[in-house]
Amino acid sequence: MSEQAIINAKIVTPDEIFRGCVIYDDHTGKIKAVQKELPSDFPQENVTDAEESWVVPGGFDAHVHLGGFGEILIEDDFYTGSLGALAGGTTTVIDFCESEKGESPSHCIEKRMQEAKASAVDYAFHFVITRDYERQLEELQKILDYGITDFKLFTVYDNTDLTMKEIEYVIKELYGKIPDKNKITFLVHAEEKDIIEKQKKQVKNPSDMSMLAFTRPDISERKAVEQLQKIAENTGVNLCIAHTSAGATVALQSEQRTAGKHTEGFLLETCPHYLEFTDEKLEGKQGALYTMTPPLRKQQDVEQLWRGILNGKIDIFSTDHCPYSKYDKYGKTYETVPCGVDGIQTRMLYLFSEGVKKRGLSMKRFVELTSENAARFYHRFPQKGCIQPGSDADLVLITERENTEIHVENRKSNLDYTIYEGKQLEGKIQMVIKSGQTVYKNGKLNAEKGSGKYLG
Ligand SMILES: [Zn+2]
Repeated sequence: MSEQAIINAKIVTPDEIFRGCVIYDDHTGKIKAVQKELPSDFPQENVTDAEESWVVPGGFDAHVHLGGFGEILIEDDFYTGSLGALAGGTTTVIDFCESEKGESPSHCIEKRMQEAKASAVDYAFHFVITRDYERQLEELQKILDYGITDFKLFTVYDNTDLTMKEIEYVIKELYGKIPDKNKITFLVHAEEKDIIEKQKKQVKNPSDMSMLAFTRPDISERKAVEQLQKIAENTGVNLCIAHTSAGATVALQSEQRTAGKHTEGFLLETCPHYLEFTDEKLEGKQGALYTMTPPLRKQQDVEQLWRGILNGKIDIFSTDHCPYSKYDKYGKTYETVPCGVDGIQTRMLYLFSEGVKKRGLSMKRFVELTSENAARFYHRFPQKGCIQPGSDADLVLITERENTEIHVENRKSNLDYTIYEGKQLEGKIQMVIKSGQTVYKNGKLNAEKGSGKYLG
């Protein structure tokens, strides 16, 4: 057993910002103490001087896509994606198990477990309820036996598009089988399919990527969220709206919370790309590189999302990391282009720079958004998402003395471009500790393939 310590740190705990030291055990991988002074007999060779850097809990990215799904392969598998995650301060991710038509839930989960074994970050899964939901409900116990307690629902896409009626039915059936509602959460992709289908009929030039924004207007998200809020009221569900893109959705959440509704149990997740870019990026050939669903929106949406980040109407900050190569992105129509962008390595520092440094986001909110809220919502708190004795020793040191410029060459995951190319961020991820091991320091990774644990 060997105790390690980080001293001279500005530590963000759930209760306060604390100047002092964190002592952790590099064998058990757990935090042992958070205190003002280091014991005088503590071995000096086991001490890291943070030199007044911030020390925050390891990032918890609750929405990533690594490894295979769909016909076009994502550039990152669990190993390369997890390297990017670690270099960006993220030590836990939640990915997805989505069964193909006719595939049993257990087969799908087993397959994903195999792929995920290469991960260097800790991981869990959301189980995607597809059109095959009757079978999935029948085999629910098997899914739960794997330790999966979150379910992803979609309102769009072949194989996964469920009507609001079906969504309400699935939630009620699931609850009927598990009396303790608090054990279960839902993450929902919210876009109104009918609106999208109607818009699609008016498209004249499908190779124009702006059509992605045209066919999926903000109102399609807001309408879907409105209906999901009603379902939430009827069922008392713990539900998170995935990748909130529209200012209108934040406004809706704001109205509801002001009225005393949905203060807990109905959360909004957003992603860095919606805070950084507008739909102007979809114009021209490069437009293909900025494709994701829901699509990028207007400047006013960007501003409303930022307000939601600052005032607590947005709760979870994930990446929806899902990178494709330029080769896969180019030469497609707005309907055939593989949707998804990178973000796993950028997320924490992006929010630190653009939120904390430039917009006055508090460090407490920063921690809530990057780890604590997701850890709480998905039942991994206090193992994850906080710095206190007994929690996993997943720690990130962020210094304000150096800055970072993003280039594809310094991305550790498998990308041939990044949408953040050339972006200047204030601050730098200096050091990352996962389960008591220093996995990233001064730009260098030291993470073993397969060192990530399944959080079952
Ligand atoms: Zn996603």
